[in-house]
Amino acid sequence: MAKVNNWQLKREMEYPYEAAKPKKQIAYVFDTNKCIACQTCTVACKTTWTSGKGEETIFFNNVETKPYGGYPLRWDVNTLKNIKDQQWSASGEYKGSTIFENTENGERVRGWRPEERDYAYPNIGEDEVKGLMDKGAFFNGMHDVWMFYLARICNHCSYPACLAACPRKAIYKREEDGIVLIDQSRCRGYKECIKACPYKKTFFNMVTRVSEKCIGCYPLIEKGEQPRCVTTCIGKIRMQGFLGEPEKIRKDNPMDQIVHIKKVALPLYPQYGTQPNVYYVPPVHVPKDFLYQMFGPGVDKTIETYRNMKDDKELLAAFLLFGNSPRIIHSYKAEDKHAVGYNEAGDEIVRVPYTEPVFARPHWDPNASTFRHNTP
Ligand code: SF4
Ligand code: SF4
Repeated sequence: MAKVNNWQLKREMEYPYEAAKPKKQIAYVFDTNKCIACQTCTVACKTTWTSGKGEETIFFNNVETKPYGGYPLRWDVNTLKNIKDQQWSASGEYKGSTIFENTENGERVRGWRPEERDYAYPNIGEDEVKGLMDKGAFFNGMHDVWMFYLARICNHCSYPACLAACPRKAIYKREEDGIVLIDQSRCRGYKECIKACPYKKTFFNMVTRVSEKCIGCYPLIEKGEQPRCVTTCIGKIRMQGFLGEPEKIRKDNPMDQIVHIKKVALPLYPQYGTQPNVYYVPPVHVPKDFLYQMFGPGVDKTIETYRNMKDDKELLAAFLLFGNSPRIIHSYKAEDKHAVGYNEAGDEIVRVPYTEPVFARPHWDPNASTFRHNTP
């Protein structure tokens, strides 16, 4: 095992291979507070990539309701059970072990393999809340029970567990953008990646007998466009871009601004140790203990910064760009009245006003000689 630096854990950790840094690292930010579980992303992904034979239960993108939802069933609970100690120090250093350090019987990654039936209920727990409502309860401005929607895709991890576990070396991380892919001509269907991925984002195709996973919509990425699950998102909860290493942060990169500088989005289950590259703004209304386990110790600061975003124009501008351009935004500027996004060449590709302009048409239209009764 090599020693690699995992900045999310603020420490070195063991990993079967030396760290191989891509030139650019694909990354995403998902704002859980805005997701409405419409599943448009799920359908967009499914119809684009997994509508073939044997792909019936393959969802590269899924959206589950927490705390009870999960696809495949109990994916996170089963991995968390494998990690005995999940303590963080006061300074944010992870003191527990990762899935690479807690192995048994010569395995490279501590994992578990779901049963076939665990893939049979993609929408289990949907809209189920935590807790019971008392008889006669009514809404008084505060919700007594909670749930939230968690959109999930492959994290294109910096230290992929799927890649680490593959005995055929069929899984690789692209040098140009950090996307993790399976070479299906090398795969022999041993399902080691399925056992190893703690997020359960590799899938086995029963017909072709090889594994499949999210490909990060790389044909779009190569054209400078964001993936399907991002551009179709109804709630505009998503942004895809490229994240810098902590020592190479660019203030004008919206991803760096959100993740590294303002720290308003956090990785999902960082304690697994794969250094995942999907970052989540945690839900503001959920009990903190639940969120600490899910997103690590930065939750309080993140939620405070998120709640005060209106006073931070740079951060607000970065969030305003979500869902407003199909192109990948490499840099941005917080102008006086607009958030402006630029492509890799530095050309302006999107301009969003902080305040939407209001247009009021006059009540009486002299040209048509009529009243517009539905206007203010
Ligand atoms: S399309 Fe967007 S809002 Fe709808 S479920 Fe997917 S992530 Fe949530
Ligand atoms: S989320 Fe799973 S499938 Fe995706 S790169 Fe990480 S370990 Fe591999």
